[in-house]
Amino acid sequence: MRHALRVLSLLLLPSLAAAQSTGSVQRAVQSITPDDIRRRIGIIADDSMRGRDTPSPELEEVAAYIASEFRRFGLKPGGDNGTFMQRYGIDRVRVVADSSVAMIHGGGDTTLTYGTSFVFLDNNFESGDYAGDLVLLTGSFDGPTQIDTAALAGKMLVISGRARNRARGQRLLSWRPAGIVVVLPIADSLWSRVAEQYTQSQMRDPARPVGRTVFLGVRLATVGPRLTSLGADVDALLQGAGPLRARPLAAQLHVHARIRVTDHASAPNVVGILEGSDPRLKSEYVVLSAHMDHVGVGRPVNGDSIYNGADDDASGTIAVVEAAEAFAQLQPRPKRSIIFLTVSGEEKGLWGSAYFADHSPVPVADIVANLNTDMVGRNWKDTIVVIGKEHSDLGATLNRVGAAHPELRMQPIDDLWPQENFYGRSDHYNFARKGVPILFFFNGTHADYHRPSDSVDKIDAEKESRIVKLVFYLGLDVANAADRPKWKADSYSRIVTGN
Ligand SMILES: [Zn+2]
Repeated sequence: MRHALRVLSLLLLPSLAAAQSTGSVQRAVQSITPDDIRRRIGIIADDSMRGRDTPSPELEEVAAYIASEFRRFGLKPGGDNGTFMQRYGIDRVRVVADSSVAMIHGGGDTTLTYGTSFVFLDNNFESGDYAGDLVLLTGSFDGPTQIDTAALAGKMLVISGRARNRARGQRLLSWRPAGIVVVLPIADSLWSRVAEQYTQSQMRDPARPVGRTVFLGVRLATVGPRLTSLGADVDALLQGAGPLRARPLAAQLHVHARIRVTDHASAPNVVGILEGSDPRLKSEYVVLSAHMDHVGVGRPVNGDSIYNGADDDASGTIAVVEAAEAFAQLQPRPKRSIIFLTVSGEEKGLWGSAYFADHSPVPVADIVANLNTDMVGRNWKDTIVVIGKEHSDLGATLNRVGAAHPELRMQPIDDLWPQENFYGRSDHYNFARKGVPILFFFNGTHADYHRPSDSVDKIDAEKESRIVKLVFYLGLDVANAADRPKWKADSYSRIVTGN
């Protein structure tokens, strides 16, 4: 008994020695104040920052400000070449409409004109010729697939526009088809606007490799009768109900696709690291993240065209800055290292976080948790929705930490809007799909969401200060814990391995 106890206490000794005193934690927490939060959100959500579009000079200014704060707190740079900035390239591309054409061969030839009969729905392809047999995919994409997907490689897959979303697109791409032909039941009156939108110059998602699959959006009015003549049941295709079926059509599609890069740009993530104090655990990392960018200057509403994004997501960005300031004061430092990350390109498609996850300065396998804050400065005083609680034991840890700090009067509650799939709609998702357990702090949307009126005067900095303190206590708990957070098995297989 004694002996066992001695061994146990020896094992515990290093961790006890490394714990922060209550006084040190209190001093750190007290640095998180409503005044600081209001002031800092006021800086990055000011009209002069013109909505922090990706890329833009104002986004660069905000990144430089955050980097200077991280430097002042004594964080180590985690970006490129010993700086706080991690940069990723962005290509601006434009479809060469005059040279792009599609032809259906089989039972007569039909030529489809770019802009009139079809558009490219995705710009991540190389100029080239894409050809394959047409295969009709009917039914729902939501259930398990009974079809032989290996037989779909190199084919031109015809799907309904109603069946299209990003996740399904990724799944279709994994079957390595030559092309995906999305039949769009769009009214003629709207078609020209769709065609214009997909023909103008646009930025290419920097996180995705440029592939050898073309995504065509074809106009039902033009292509529908041709598909019917080939024996396709177009109504069933559009319905998208029942089990997923693949039906080869006796025809080929040949696409002459032309696109060119018109411009190169780049955008920053800001990365600051607080090195852990435990000799072993310091090579593991907790990431606190938020997105610096918003949607820039846009359509005026009541005479205002600057989309300030004070809540979305200056509030989360400043939550990360405030937490960094608090963590940096702890004596001793937390056992695990903490990465403070503010990304860009979130509003464009989670670009910066995707790039970070693919080019992390530390092995992603050593990132034990991601705590993401996106919109934490509005709505109810005493609760914060935390998305992802059910997917790992971070949820139980948060409940315990929240209960231990009743003075915060901030109750973490479960996802109120599972049907909105917010789990897939902010930067934490890029960590989750790499196998990092996440929690996402989110106060929900409001009437000012993605409008010029999401401005600083509407921010509840007092409320936000209590959320930041909760994130701080949680982050400290995770950083000091003996064991790293664990996924729930079924969540892991669904979200990470995709089964
Ligand atoms: Zn947003």
